[in-house]
Amino acid sequence: MAVPRKKTTPAKRGMRRSHDFLTVASYAECANCGEPRRPHHVCAACGHYGDREVVAPKAVEEIDDEAA
Ligand SMILES: [Zn+2]
Repeated sequence: MAVPRKKTTPAKRGMRRSHDFLTVASYAECANCGEPRRPHHVCAACGHYGDREVVAPKAVEEIDDEAA
């Protein structure tokens, strides 16, 4: 097994870890229904993108299909 020749210094370890963080997911309000949605994504609640409906609303229809 390959073994590192030297112990990583605290500074080098810190440089590596400087990118290890989580970011808060951004959101925008849907212009149609007001639900929070991700920017540049279709609204999951009403299926609208921009000013028109591009997909059928997901939550209600799929649950009905599985029950029937
Ligand atoms: Zn919406």
